[in-house]
Amino acid sequence: MKISFECSECQKENIEFIEAGYFVLKRRSKIEKEITIDRKYEILCEKGHKETIIINIQKFQLLFDMGVKFLEDECPKEAVFNFATSIERFYEFFIFLIMCEKMSEKDNKNGKIHEMWKEISKQTERQKGLFIGLYTLIIGDNDFIKFEKTKICGKPTIVEFRNNVVHKGEIPLQKYAKEYEKIIYDFIADTLQKLRQKGIDVVKFNKNEWRERLGDAKKKTVISYPTVIELAPEEKKSIIDRKEVYLNYINKLYKND
Ligand SMILES: [Zn+2]
Repeated sequence: MKISFECSECQKENIEFIEAGYFVLKRRSKIEKEITIDRKYEILCEKGHKETIIINIQKFQLLFDMGVKFLEDECPKEAVFNFATSIERFYEFFIFLIMCEKMSEKDNKNGKIHEMWKEISKQTERQKGLFIGLYTLIIGDNDFIKFEKTKICGKPTIVEFRNNVVHKGEIPLQKYAKEYEKIIYDFIADTLQKLRQKGIDVVKFNKNEWRERLGDAKKKTVISYPTVIELAPEEKKSIIDRKEVYLNYINKLYKND
C-alpha cells in the first residue's frame, strides 16, 4: 500500500494568483512512498527540496484503516490480520496514554515508560495483561472481558476466530471479517469515549506523540486526514458512518492521481 505526498515548496511555487483570494494550482508534483508503521516519511522532490512528513495518526488507527481498505477490496484474511494488530496496538496506545497521564514529569516519565515497554514489547500477552490491569483501574467496568468473549460466525469467540485466521491458516468469509471489523471498532470507539468521560486528555497525548516522532527535523510538515476510528469525537459514530467518510476521502485521492 502506498501513500502520496506533494512537496510543500513546489506547491507554493505552483500557485498562481488570479486575483486577491483566488488561486489555481499550475502543476501537481506527487511523491509516492510505501506506508510504514512509524508514520514518518523523508521526501525529496525532483527539484531537490527535502522535507520530513509526519502523519498525525496513531498506529492502531492506521492498521484499522488498512483493514477497512482490504475488506473493501474483498481480501477478508488480510483485513482480519490488520484488525487483529490494530487492537494490539490499541493496547499499547492505552498503556502509554495512562502511564503518561498518571506519572509526573519529575519522575522522568518518558524514560521510565520506554524502559518498561522494552520489557514487554516482544510479548503481546504481557501487554494485554498490563492493559487489562490499567483498564480495570481507570475504566472500572468488565466490558473488556465481555469483548473478548463476543461470539462470531455463530460459534467461536473473537479470540478463537483471530487465532484460527492468524495461526491456523483459516480463510474467513467476507461477512465474518465484516462482523469482526465492527466488534473491534465498537470496543475501541467505546473505550475512547469512556476515557473522555474520565477526563483523560487523548488529544494532548496524541500531540506529544507526533512531536516526539518529528524530532528536530529542519523542514517538517504534519499531515492529518480522516480516519475510520476518531481519537476524541464528542460522541461515538457508527462504523458505517465513519467508513463512508474514510472511503470517500481515499477514493477521491486515487481519482486525482
Ligand atoms: Zn519541491
